[in-house]
Amino acid sequence: MPFKALKLSDNVLRGVQAAGYTDPTPIQLRAIPAVLTGGDLIASAQTGTGKTAAFALPVLTRLGAHGRTRVLVLEPTRELAAQVETAFRDFARFTDIRTVAIFGGVGYGNQRAELKRGVDIIVATPGRLMDYLKERTISLQDINILILDEVDRMLDMGFLPVVKDIIARCPRERQTLFFSATVPPEIAAVASFALRNPAKIEVGVARSVTTSVNHALYPVAAEQKFELLEALLAKTEFDSVLVFSRTKHGADKIARRLKAANHSVAVLHANRSQNQRIEALAGFKSGKYEVMVATDIAARGIDVAGVSHVINYDVPEKPEDYVHRIGRTGRAQAVGDAFTLVTPENAGDIRDIQRFIGQKIPELKLEGFDYRPFTARPVPVSAPGGAHSKPSRQGGWNRFGGGGGRRRARY
Ligand code: AMP
Repeated sequence: MPFKALKLSDNVLRGVQAAGYTDPTPIQLRAIPAVLTGGDLIASAQTGTGKTAAFALPVLTRLGAHGRTRVLVLEPTRELAAQVETAFRDFARFTDIRTVAIFGGVGYGNQRAELKRGVDIIVATPGRLMDYLKERTISLQDINILILDEVDRMLDMGFLPVVKDIIARCPRERQTLFFSATVPPEIAAVASFALRNPAKIEVGVARSVTTSVNHALYPVAAEQKFELLEALLAKTEFDSVLVFSRTKHGADKIARRLKAANHSVAVLHANRSQNQRIEALAGFKSGKYEVMVATDIAARGIDVAGVSHVINYDVPEKPEDYVHRIGRTGRAQAVGDAFTLVTPENAGDIRDIQRFIGQKIPELKLEGFDYRPFTARPVPVSAPGGAHSKPSRQGGWNRFGGGGGRRRARY
């Protein structure tokens, strides 16, 4: 069946032709008519099946005159937000529909200017969208089509609380579409409050669920934090490690001490010159530096493939920063580890983070590390199965076997 038979609008069909597509893919064949009915839909389809056009084409067909923001597409990563917005823009080239991509890691100026001009479709990552919602630059009151793309990845990345908040800000009367490679029970639960009598489409074999980030808390006395960081680095087999400090001064200090211990280290914070920042990032990306020490603000935009470990030397101040930090690892389906050094004073912050991400983070103890006793119980949170237990699932922790571990030289 050609695209022409799918009841897409003429202008959208011209966009499809211009994109060079001749025949619809299986997900497009099934999802396009379903979306055109105006009903809700939950579709399991992987990236690469043509799922972007499967929702973009009927959505563009359903939009009439422009002026108000009526479509919101949520994406788990900046890269996807940029890519999907480009697809919408390409397909919409023969219409007067306006689109904007909203994601972190870039300045607010251009995005604000585009929003001010008026857009019909927003393709956004949850974090940056929330910034605009809080400052009321974006209103969701006219949204009548809400699309959650790659829902499984979004939840893996800890976005559940933000996503729920965003859904709750949209009008009840709307069409809602979920696209996900897999539909595990957590997604079914979100779907049950977000979707109404959804049509269900399954295309292709669902890949197995991989939680792309392993989290762990490492309780430690404040005076032993640096020692523990060094021991973790020594015992971990890593490709590249991003270490987070709460303050610029702290970042400098950690970097100095790591350099003294013969690590190749880059530092990224707002007090460094633009050139120093560019050099740090380029060096980290190329593997010249094995460790980068950064503050939250400076690290927001970092997109480095292959960050294998994030170590929170300091617990982040705001729970959402935890999500931003660990979003640096486990990208593109790779498995990454995120460790947080926790002192007794951090108990409250850790509780907030766990509430925010909707999961308990297991506590671990580094084997062979000479822990000095805490005066207080370390943190009043414990992993299922007890404090300091090793989670049985995932291979990530095995890298900490006794015997010292290996580290790959990278330059
Ligand atoms: P997606 O799964 O949406 O990421 O799409 C995967 C790739 O397939 C993208 O490069 C699309 O441009 C391409 N694609 C999607 N639909 C079609 C189609 N009907 N014919 C040819 N290429 C397509």
